[in-house]
Amino acid sequence: MSNVSEQDTALVLFSGGQDSATCLAWALSRFRRVETLGFHYGQRHAIELDCRAALLAGVGTIRTDWREKLGENHTLDIPTLGTISETALTRDVAIEMVEGGLPNTFVPGRNLVFLTFAAALAYRRGIRHIVGGMCETDYSGYPDCRNDTIKALEVALNLGMDRQFELHTPLMWRDKAATWALAHELGGDALVNLIREQSHTCYLGERGSKHAWGYGCGECPACRLRAKGWYEYEATRRDQS
Ligand code: ZN
Repeated sequence: MSNVSEQDTALVLFSGGQDSATCLAWALSRFRRVETLGFHYGQRHAIELDCRAALLAGVGTIRTDWREKLGENHTLDIPTLGTISETALTRDVAIEMVEGGLPNTFVPGRNLVFLTFAAALAYRRGIRHIVGGMCETDYSGYPDCRNDTIKALEVALNLGMDRQFELHTPLMWRDKAATWALAHELGGDALVNLIREQSHTCYLGERGSKHAWGYGCGECPACRLRAKGWYEYEATRRDQS
């Protein structure tokens, strides 16, 4: 599809989780060509990244045009992020879940790093649109997920790289139930089921236990948030039918 201009191409930050899988479908329904980007930084659970291949293959079976639009799937190694996240360990601070849903090994400003690398890659590939699953609704405690942060970074990236990138965050104002509903809107039950089966969210990297909402430990904040959203989504669908 060499005739597709950069105006029509999107790069999706694609971790293999529920949010980024939904963002991928969103981008496939809007742009003529879509590339994906995952980061490897020594996560304790590389499972989420392993889910990417299954999701990409699965999305291509849902709609023929989605399969045709899917372009390169990139992976960037940023081991420095892992080094920084280890500081919680080297400083003898116990790993614990802090209120709001992330372990305290979380790297402050991680999304700023991801989006900046994404923009650098997009620059090199002549891509204008960058799509990420940042969400202010469910992760209000994390300032790099805020809409104002993303808007400010968009300005900074465009100034700093002399480009006209557009950062898209389709989940910004959706809670997890609304994210499931968006997946249904975009790809029906087939997409919802694909995301349930193949996307990964659990902080502990647990994939042994299957629940109605997918695989995970069921106890960590990410699992609890995903489960809560799933049951709210199901309740809404029951009300509608
Ligand atoms: Zn979990």
